[in-house]
Amino acid sequence: MATVPWLADVLRAAGVQVVEEGDWRNRMRPGSFDPIGVLWHHTASTSSPSNPHPALNICINGRPDLAGPLCQALVDYNGVFHLISAGRCNHAGASRGSGPIPAGDGNTLMIGWEIDYNGVNQQMTAAQYNASIAATAAVLKRLGRDSSYARGHRETSTTGKIDPYAINLDTMRADVARAMNPPTGGWTSTVDNTTAGRFTASTNWGTSSFSGQRFGENYRFANPVAASDAAWYKFAIPETGNYRVEAWWPADAGYNNAAPYIVATSSGNQTVNVDQRITGGQWRVLGTFNLTAGDANKVGVSRWTSGTGYVIADAIRVTRV
Ligand SMILES: [Zn+2]
Repeated sequence: MATVPWLADVLRAAGVQVVEEGDWRNRMRPGSFDPIGVLWHHTASTSSPSNPHPALNICINGRPDLAGPLCQALVDYNGVFHLISAGRCNHAGASRGSGPIPAGDGNTLMIGWEIDYNGVNQQMTAAQYNASIAATAAVLKRLGRDSSYARGHRETSTTGKIDPYAINLDTMRADVARAMNPPTGGWTSTVDNTTAGRFTASTNWGTSSFSGQRFGENYRFANPVAASDAAWYKFAIPETGNYRVEAWWPADAGYNNAAPYIVATSSGNQTVNVDQRITGGQWRVLGTFNLTAGDANKVGVSRWTSGTGYVIADAIRVTRV
């Protein structure tokens, strides 16, 4: 039986935040596993900043009617991938065939992401979607398959599953395709908290060089507050179009577990929450956004969060895609 012990490295290399859950490499169902595709699910649990992965234990241990593990990875509210298994899992059941995925044993044919949201009155967060796109693209590249091998459970289920709710799966596959083959030679710009004329924050934001994971000389930090006091990064966007936005923060156990990054897109502000307690000292993809041409505050870090710990504002990179 094949396994996918490379999952952690492949996801990290794609800019996805990863938490390895116990002995995930050796936790699996007996039986065949020879994956050719990736299957998206939702858990039907209600996640939140204070309870980002309510279905994690069930996905690891199973439930009375279905033995765990129930997926290779759970994607939490903040887009963090919790690795549960490197082998066969009970997530797909029988496949009725969808796109290039044949009819057969779905648990043999596919790697599953359980994306933790309830799918009734709660949709997938932007962080969950963006991380799932990046992860799916990286895994399919590793498997030597194209974006058509990314499917949703509702496309392969023989029992009428509806997940993942509220996601257009053709758009998902187009986004996976773009992530697998990003256009090259694009404009890029980096703004650090010390970049002259391009960073603004109130005096409520302290300055620190405590963490060796910082970008440049130092970074700014502030306590959460239920008020508008964002730190802003100004970019001279050359033309209206799609840009990849990445953030760099130093990670520390005392930093915020749901730090809100605001991206001022052509259709309004979008917020992406990240966990600044982990995976610091590198560029992390917040997503791809349509930005309007012009020199203006394009990305902010908000203090207005229900997460706990210092909110960190270090560096932002924007790249034309
Ligand atoms: Zn499902």
